[in-house]
Formats: sequence, structure tokens, C-alpha cells
Amino acid sequence: MINKNPDQEGFYGDFGGAFVPEVLAANLKELQEKYIPFIESEEFQTEFQDLLQNYLGRATPLYHAKKLSAKYGTHVYLKREDLNHTGSHKMNNALGQILLAEKLGKKRIIAETGAGQHGVATATACALRGLECVIYMGEVDMVRQATNVSRMKMLGAEVRAARSGTKTLKDAVNEALEDWIQNPDTYYLIGSAVGPHPYPDMVTRFQSVISKEIKTQFEEKVGGLPTHILAAIGGGSNAAGAFYHFIGEPNVQLVAAEASGHGLETDKTAATLHLGTTGVLHGSKSKVMQTADGQLIDPHSISAGLDYPGIGPLHAYLHDINQLEIHDATDQEALEAGRELTQLEGILPALESAHALVLLKKVKFKPEDQVVVNLSGRGDKDLPTYLKAFGL
Ligand SMILES: *Cc1c(COP(=O)(O)O)cnc(C)c1O
Repeated sequence: MINKNPDQEGFYGDFGGAFVPEVLAANLKELQEKYIPFIESEEFQTEFQDLLQNYLGRATPLYHAKKLSAKYGTHVYLKREDLNHTGSHKMNNALGQILLAEKLGKKRIIAETGAGQHGVATATACALRGLECVIYMGEVDMVRQATNVSRMKMLGAEVRAARSGTKTLKDAVNEALEDWIQNPDTYYLIGSAVGPHPYPDMVTRFQSVISKEIKTQFEEKVGGLPTHILAAIGGGSNAAGAFYHFIGEPNVQLVAAEASGHGLETDKTAATLHLGTTGVLHGSKSKVMQTADGQLIDPHSISAGLDYPGIGPLHAYLHDINQLEIHDATDQEALEAGRELTQLEGILPALESAHALVLLKKVKFKPEDQVVVNLSGRGDKDLPTYLKAFGL
């Protein structure tokens, strides 16, 4: 029996749960009790579906990439999450959670961001609903994703630099959690399928619209089910959304790419399922990149959205029970896959999504396979990095 939803305590097998300081317990309990009835209510569904369709522009297309298919000798389809308003899948979750926050009577929203896509999505949702917005972002990421910082400011959000540790995503999460502990009345809008229960499940449910659409679109275009779903995993929200309605389907292989930075054998990587061990990070038990005595290992990826030493508990569980095939993609492989898609199909992918494209090289596909790649976001934010890498 494969569970795509966690148990009452938020566990998927051995992974998940809610490990938080006492001051947050009451807050979390309220969320845990209210999120499913709220998501299932007609009031929420009517408003959410309207926003997905008319504000985000869903359904996003499922595009048969013919030149990419010819190159890899199989059928390749791209799920175009890059075409969502604000340029990535992050907005599905931000809209869902902002409606919940409003329902709970919250007036102040905080969020963490790595590549800035979740910060932009949250700032956008706050502008739309007229809520105060504070975004925590690593100082290093503020430099490499500068255009997204400008967008957040333009949207009226306050961007606070996280200056501890490697000054990247995990440090931004630490500071957002600290803010939440100081201000329990604030709503913490987590951007990936990580954190204490109910966040991993809640974020997965909001993102599951991706696999719901893939299923319908594939049935209409081709018939039947795809044979493979490919996605990049940072914390795991776009992958969870793209996998959700296929979990437990015996003839659909779920495949994930982890960012291995300079390479799995170096100390500059962020490939948590490859290299991590079981531990607790940011409120949940999962795989974590840590030393034998439990010190976090600083992660590295060229992609700010994948530069994280943990992974959502759903993926740790799926991997544990052999339902998730994993591969790694280095910085260099991702850059090249990003350029290849841009020049073959005229689609500039986010560096995060480019890691998923590397899987086309890593998995041996048969000519009759039907492969869906979740193209989680667009690459405008990464142009300076691409240009520098290729000396353009
Ligand atoms: C944030 C981000 C990711 C990584 O986060 P997940 O939660 O693993 O999806 C991947 N792609 C894009 C475009 C992102 O913005």
C-alpha cells in the first residue's frame, strides 16, 4: 500500500511529522485541523479554481517537443509551468495558502525564498489580497537573483537579507522560522513541500493541479497514461505536484533529478537523497545532508532554488519504498541542458527546470515511451548566469 497522503501526525512511513518549538504548537495545531476541511470546501474551491484559470492562466499547456523527442529517440512532452503568471509553479501554492491565511484572519505574511520565485509569488498573492508581506532571502541569492528582488520590492514587499551561514535558502528558512516564533500571529507561507506537518501535504495538494492536468491532457492528446514523469527536486513541490496523481500507478515511472553541483564526489553538492541521512531539518524528519554527528553540510548548486540540504518527506518516503528513481545533475550538465532546450525549442528554462531536462540523457528510454518533463519555471531570472557560463 502506497500512501500519497500522510497519517494524522503528518508521517509518510518514517518521514515527516512536526518538530517545532512549543510556542508554535498551537498555531500548527490550528492549521492541521483546518487545512483539509478548508481545501475541500466549496467556498475555497470556487475561488481557487477561478484564480488558477483567470489569474494564473491555467491549464498550462502540455507541449509535444518534437525536436527534443527526435534528439532523444522517444516521445517528450513538456508541462509548461513556466507559463504561469510570475513564471513558475510556485504561484499555485502561494494562491492556495493566501486564501487559507485570509480565512484564518491573518494580516501579516512571511515567506522564505531561494531563487526568488517563491518570494515573487508570495508578494504577488499579498498584493492581490492586500496583505503585509515580508520575504527572507539569503544575501548571496539576492545577488544572483537580483531581478526577482526588484520585482518583490515593486510589488510592495519588504525583502530582508539572511546573513548567517552560507547566506542561501536554508538560512532564509531559519530566519523566517525565527520571525514566526517571535510573531505567532503571522502566517508563514512555506514555498516547498517541506517544513512541519501540515505544510508538506498542504503544498502538495495545492501543486497537485499539475498532475491532474497532465493526466487529462495526456489522455486527450495521446490516450492512456505517460510512461515517465520527470522533475527536478529542491524541496520537492513541483515534483510532488507533477507526481501526485500518478503515485501508485504501476506503469508510470517517477524520476527525479537532484542538483549535484560540482559533482557527487565533491563537497559542493545539494543531492540530498543521494548523500543524506535521516535527520530533522526545519520541523520535519527526512533525509538531510549532515555529518555523522548531525552538523548540517553546506549545500551548493548553481541553481538557487535547488541549493538546499533537505528534501520533503514525501520524496524520502517514495525513494525508501522504491517508487522514485533518482539521478543527479551537475551545474555544468544543467547549464548545457538549458541551452539545448532554448536553441532546440525556443524555450528558455529556469536553471532548476534544466536539471530535470538532464534526465533525458541519464535515463535509457525506448522509442515507444511517453515522457513528460515538468518544466517548472522560465529562465529569465537566470540569464546572467547562463551568459556568464557560455561567455556570451
Ligand atoms: C523553487 C523552484 C524549484 C525548486 O523547488 P521545488 O519545491 O523542489 O519545486 C524548481 N523550479 C523552479 C522554477 C523554482 O522556482
